[in-house]
Amino acid sequence: MECKRCGAGEEEKKLEACPTCRKPVCNDCLLPFQGKGFCSEGCGMWFFHGEGDDESDFEESPDDA
Ligand SMILES: [Zn+2]
Ligand SMILES: [Zn+2]
Repeated sequence: MECKRCGAGEEEKKLEACPTCRKPVCNDCLLPFQGKGFCSEGCGMWFFHGEGDDESDFEESPDDA
């Protein structure tokens, strides 16, 4: 298991699973969002707004044409 952002292994850093996508992310890369830590802002948004599907890229622009 290694951080999906910086690639640090669990022996170097403390890793936590993103509540949304379950990918491991280290404490340094964790993005605090509403009191929880996520791998990305997109995951934080998704967790609290409950939209989007997990197969798609979270980096997409929120405004759909
Ligand atoms: Zn990291
Ligand atoms: Zn995530």
